[in-house]
Amino acid sequence: PKPHIWLLNQKLANSLLPPPRPINSHKGSFGNVAILGGSSGMIGAALMAGRSALHLGAGRVYLGLLAENAPPVDFSQPELMLRTPSELFSLSSLSCLVVGPGLGQSAQALLLLETALHSEFTLVLDADALNLIASHPDLARNLSQRNVPAILTPHPAEAARLLHIDTATVQNDRMHTVHQISHSFNCYVVLKGAGSICCFPDGKRYLNTSGNPGLSTAGTGDVLAGIIGALIAQGLKPGQALLLAVYLHGAAADHLLQKNHGSLGMVASEVIGVARLLLNQWI
Ligand code: AMP
Ligand code: MG
Repeated sequence: PKPHIWLLNQKLANSLLPPPRPINSHKGSFGNVAILGGSSGMIGAALMAGRSALHLGAGRVYLGLLAENAPPVDFSQPELMLRTPSELFSLSSLSCLVVGPGLGQSAQALLLLETALHSEFTLVLDADALNLIASHPDLARNLSQRNVPAILTPHPAEAARLLHIDTATVQNDRMHTVHQISHSFNCYVVLKGAGSICCFPDGKRYLNTSGNPGLSTAGTGDVLAGIIGALIAQGLKPGQALLLAVYLHGAAADHLLQKNHGSLGMVASEVIGVARLLLNQWI
């Protein structure tokens, strides 16, 4: 590989770990993550991202759910603090705002995304946040002109929409595609799928070596977005958080593949618990 392309492996992941927790820590030591998403019919995506951020060590996790019929509490994860979307923007100290899981593409979603792009929050943009940016040039401009970091997490079809090309073209040159997205939006990017590639705004790229087809199931992208948010909340820089999250997410799937003697039937929720186990072991 060219010198600006690196392998994202265990050795690199080990160099990115957060420090062991100090004995006198408190929840404020580990940051606050908020998830903006969860429209009607897609509430689960936001819950998954929130649970993922919580289980990977964020001090506090807020959810801003768009659905009119949103539950007041996640009864099987009552640690999550459920809010209205606009309430997220008055939270005093957010380490990271994840926008996209189950967001939908309604007029309300569009307005909220615009507010997020104008905010001072470090952003993780996933799913419909990316689709909205792809179809609204003004949002794309807002994103590229931000002076606070943002991380984009497209799968190949979302990457294709962002660049107005087709998915086959994305897949035929993934190294080039991820660089184009990073360059046009001036962002950190992971192009997901078998052999995820992370790209930094300076053009450095990292090819992930973990993960398997067990991850080809609903919700795994939401889990990844939550892990990135949790690691930023715990003090990692955006690029470090992205690399460690992508490797850890794949490594958790590899662990589950071993345990279950195959990748069939893996589900996104169980990736969360294994990712937590591995992160604790590595630290
Ligand atoms: P999403 O499409 O947003 O739900 O995200 C799917 C997640 O699973 C991403 O992190 C992908 O990189 C990962 N994934 C899906 N299929 C595979 C595969 N065949 N090998 C490795 N990772 C995969
Ligand atoms: Mg997704």
